[in-house]
Amino acid sequence: MNENDLRGLIDIKWNGAILIGKSFTVDGHWNRPVRVITHAHLDHVIGLRDSLKNSGAIVFTPATYELIMEIYELNGALKALLSKKAITLSYGKYLEVNGEVIRLVKANHIVGASQVLIESNGLRIGYTGDFKLRGTEIMNDLDALIIEATYGSRSFKRPFKDSINELFVDLVMDGLASGTPVYIYGYYGKLQEAMYILRSSGVTAPFIMPRRLYKVTSVAEKYCGSIGNYYDETLIELKKLLRDYGGYIAFYHMNKASKRSLTEGLHIILTGWEFYEPIRRRSHNTWTVALSDHADYEELLEYVERSRPGLVIVDASRSEYAEEFARDVEACTSIRSITMPKNNRSLINYS
Ligand SMILES: [Zn+2]
Repeated sequence: MNENDLRGLIDIKWNGAILIGKSFTVDGHWNRPVRVITHAHLDHVIGLRDSLKNSGAIVFTPATYELIMEIYELNGALKALLSKKAITLSYGKYLEVNGEVIRLVKANHIVGASQVLIESNGLRIGYTGDFKLRGTEIMNDLDALIIEATYGSRSFKRPFKDSINELFVDLVMDGLASGTPVYIYGYYGKLQEAMYILRSSGVTAPFIMPRRLYKVTSVAEKYCGSIGNYYDETLIELKKLLRDYGGYIAFYHMNKASKRSLTEGLHIILTGWEFYEPIRRRSHNTWTVALSDHADYEELLEYVERSRPGLVIVDASRSEYAEEFARDVEACTSIRSITMPKNNRSLINYS
């Protein structure tokens, strides 16, 4: 690989836009023919309104398209524009734009999440988006890998990641057995992961949730398999659920956690920012559970080691740990590694 050939083909802007090739801006707005969205979390959908006005097409997986339609309060005109400009690409399918080829590659993060693989001018450039290692396809034969580094500091390791699901299920079952409702708080995507963990562990209690979360769960069910026995809380009588099942589990977006009851129920807050204990008691009726939908430090390094790209570019627009991670990548793998955006050390200045 000639690193000079990558000049002009990769850039990351401080607004989160990841520019690849000549035609694509990924996960943030820039004035490019095609806007790509790796998944439906807000920090990757930012600038959508500008992209709808200025880009000719918006590319994402079918599930991400449906989630964006459900989660974000787009007015009728913007929804019409989105449906007109949407190009949905299933994993592995490709699209050619002005001589460049884009593919979306499976990422395990939230329903519909993808990585991006672009071939431009004979070079293969991959961008991981957000991911957790297990269930994520490793991209190989890359000239450059752009990687997220949310947990890019070496202090961000979760040694308990293989046992966390079981501990989480035990906590929920204890709550149900004591006859109290169980409330679970988290972000879109992680809540659905929690639902799948509970169902696959034999928890049959009904799930209730607000309308928007119900719609997100319906999209997850459509693409990721059955969850079953879940209800829009505005359309179900809680007394009937208690009578028929003896209990229920309520799911809410993280922004409702601060409004939880301090006296009634068992409350579980799902967070990635716990590294020392898998489960921690915060008060007599509230626990945090270290369930994350991101790779920890070790998984980020493992991705790079298994991918062996020619060059690693760490996304510094979304992580303050990008510099530390880039240094560690070079030290551990001997693969050239830089961060973008950056003031004093960039692809342009590298020789
Ligand atoms: Zn995300």
